[in-house]
Amino acid sequence: MLLRLSRQIAPAELRAVEAVAEELGYALTRLGERGDVAELARLPGSRPPAGPAHVAAFADLSGVVEILDRGDVRELWRARPDGAASTVVEAAGARFGGGSASIIAGPCAVEDEARLLEVAQAVRSRGASLLRGGAFKPRTSPYSFQGLGREGLEMLRNVREATGLGIVTEVLDPRDVEAVADAADLVQVGARSMANYALLKELGELRQPVLLKRGFGATVSEFLGAAEYVLAGGNESVVLCERGVRGFDRVTRNLLDVGAIAHLAGATHLPVITDPSHAAGRADLVRAIGRAGLIAGADGLMVEVHPAPAEVHSDGQQAIGLDEFGALVRDAEALCVLDDRRLVTLDETPDGASSRPSMSPLPTAHLRGTA
Ligand code: PEP
Ligand code: MN
Repeated sequence: MLLRLSRQIAPAELRAVEAVAEELGYALTRLGERGDVAELARLPGSRPPAGPAHVAAFADLSGVVEILDRGDVRELWRARPDGAASTVVEAAGARFGGGSASIIAGPCAVEDEARLLEVAQAVRSRGASLLRGGAFKPRTSPYSFQGLGREGLEMLRNVREATGLGIVTEVLDPRDVEAVADAADLVQVGARSMANYALLKELGELRQPVLLKRGFGATVSEFLGAAEYVLAGGNESVVLCERGVRGFDRVTRNLLDVGAIAHLAGATHLPVITDPSHAAGRADLVRAIGRAGLIAGADGLMVEVHPAPAEVHSDGQQAIGLDEFGALVRDAEALCVLDDRRLVTLDETPDGASSRPSMSPLPTAHLRGTA
């Protein structure tokens, strides 16, 4: 890294620059006749830079006029400090990234423990490796069902205990991070919270991996900036989730940005999954949209599944039934093979083989206007 120092740098300012350099593991050498350029070289044995925070630490000092060359300091979403090509995120037997894909399935919200258990067993036997269900629900209206809160977390813990299926559940409030993390194997940040930087900073300090959903009005760069908050806090395990952005048409609830999935698959080492349920907003399109996300390069799916959608308080119209879910898992297995990826399920044989039949035709009834 090269800094331009003020020609009038005061001795105290220079000492401050030297102190920051030493603290961050750099040797500082002043170059040029006037010594107004400072070269910072990493001291042998010092830890690799943890992202551009190092650059910012110098940029903020009063004797520093300009950063002339940032060296190889890059955002953490761009490249892993250890140089590995992909981040593989593991959560309770599920694996995302590095050639592995997994499926998260379950109801939109936790509403009833017996029903949650039934759904968990059903999706597990059909190939899901994590159970989803919100205990804290971000609803557009404050008068809509807000979720069961801590009681819902308790139900999730009970169902994890009974089925061995890991849990994905959303945290809305930084004050609930500890309680949610206690119930979750993968902590979800919803689309509405993607830019809640206080929450993201808290999650940077967590041990559990984070599932970060893209805000429906967020650019890809804002999405990656949100991921950077978690990574910069020291939590390396982030799964990105494209769930559709707001379009001008209301035929689907959102517009699945398959271009963003394809872009992210190459632009970042982080795994990227897709949520076709919130993109579609209607059950009859979930399977087709889920297929599209996988083809674009997604490392897995998160899908809302419910055997009796008419009974639920939240997102029943987009919940697919168990048979449809089974068909989507078979699609996913076949589509992963096309891309040299492997769908991870919990019930596979020791050699990794699965007994499920292969991809079945996509029903096109809705295309004929009959659904
Ligand atoms: C959800 O997963 O139930 C949810 C609220 O999704 P999103 O944050 O993508 O709207
Ligand atoms: Mn939902």
